[in-house]
Amino acid sequence: MRGKDLRVPIEEIERQREIMRLVRETDDRPQTYHIVTYGCQMNVQDSQKIAGMLEEMGLSYTDERESADFVIFNTCCVRDNAERRALGNVTWLNEIKKKNPKLLIGVCGCMIQQPQMADRILRQYPFIDLAFGTQNLYRFPELLRQLLSSRSRVVSVAQGDEFDSVPEGLPIRRVRHEQAFMTIMYGCNNFCTYCVVPLVRGRERSRKADMILSEAQELKNDGVREVMLLGQNVNSYGKDLNGEMSFPSLLRALDDTGIERIRFMTSHPKDLSQELIDVMAAGKHIMPHVHLPVQSGSDRILTAMNRHYTRAQYMGIIARLRTAMPEVGISTDIIVGFPGETDEDFEDTLSLVREARFDSAFTFVYSPRAGTKAAEMDCQIPPEISKARIEALIALQEEMTGRALESMIGKTVTVLVEGLSKRSENQVMGKCERGITVHFDGGESDMGSMIPVKITASRTNSLCGERI
Ligand code: SAH
Ligand code: SF4
Repeated sequence: MRGKDLRVPIEEIERQREIMRLVRETDDRPQTYHIVTYGCQMNVQDSQKIAGMLEEMGLSYTDERESADFVIFNTCCVRDNAERRALGNVTWLNEIKKKNPKLLIGVCGCMIQQPQMADRILRQYPFIDLAFGTQNLYRFPELLRQLLSSRSRVVSVAQGDEFDSVPEGLPIRRVRHEQAFMTIMYGCNNFCTYCVVPLVRGRERSRKADMILSEAQELKNDGVREVMLLGQNVNSYGKDLNGEMSFPSLLRALDDTGIERIRFMTSHPKDLSQELIDVMAAGKHIMPHVHLPVQSGSDRILTAMNRHYTRAQYMGIIARLRTAMPEVGISTDIIVGFPGETDEDFEDTLSLVREARFDSAFTFVYSPRAGTKAAEMDCQIPPEISKARIEALIALQEEMTGRALESMIGKTVTVLVEGLSKRSENQVMGKCERGITVHFDGGESDMGSMIPVKITASRTNSLCGERI
């Protein structure tokens, strides 16, 4: 694939834009829409693109799912429970459809991209009007128009040439003014043995750096203060572009655009270089936060997971991050109950959590996914053992998070205000440099501002402070 231009031709995007204009002028098109998003930030950004396209087609957003003319479920399939929740909700909506036969139901995203899913939708979910996958999202206007003109179901899941596309120039509806997501690469090449992402999101492909930089400039001109760069493994950015630009050089170039805050996720430990650490430490606008999923503390399990690093190498990266940036915040993802995980392996995970001092961790019970190697492995772990392990892990991480938060008391941080605090009407909340949520006294007029705050207390997962 190296060297092949995967961008969707500009003419194709123009064609979709023309279709959006046509739908807008259609009399009996739906007027309002609602999107339900499951899963990761990548899905959140895809939903923003779908919303952007729907608004170009003249629909307006409604908060109320029950009264919308068109409801879309953007699904996730990374774990079984995400899939079940999505399908449960779609089925529930069918009840509402019985009262309002004009309601259109759409489903899209990773779950739909799985093999045989299109058939299943056609057979088992006759009330789903429109289904499409992750790879043909840019053709959504065309698919919707087809549905509206034929009034018969449209199920289109990209295969072959359409797979591995890089669409540019789609409209995006951003929810907040001060922050924006920016996808820098699609797909994943790593094939961790438990993970379905490479099967539903395709191979790694990077957006061209000039596209990313000009988008960053536009965002800055629009008043965006913080961008979050997205990719399944941002550290391998650019490897498919003939080495035109690496992730550290991209970060350096973005730092020079003057965007006030730059964050990124996810980092794979096997690809996190010393150069990246140096660029982060030297950058003026790169926030000292790294989301660095470890998955397990046992070398045996890491090998079985196909992660390509050892526990010692992982701890080495953490040590180097902290040497270069003493205030760096590190968060992680951990899986318990991977096939063959013994009590000893799990103890290794617990001891790593103690040593690593993460600010926070997303913890998951291993969920077998069709098409992955781990699903075929012997020694699947009984649910009651996984349950006991995850409970012990969560309890330990809560204690570690408590310690990390307490160590912030007395320090001064800068908070980018995101919203009103849910706990009190007279408080606002936002993130400090290292990505921890901070609450302090304030109101509507503080939205989108950067405010220096002295930390005075810690709660379970957040900090409290006083503005200076
Ligand atoms: N690309 C990112 C995240 C991918 S999915 C990365 O490599 O880190 C987000 C997290 O879901 C993963 O880090 C992993 O901890 C978890 N996950 C993925 N597949 C899973 C599975 N089959 N069962 C349980 N957790 C899983
Ligand atoms: Fe899945 Fe591993 Fe790729 Fe992350 S790096 S998306 S866990 S295969």
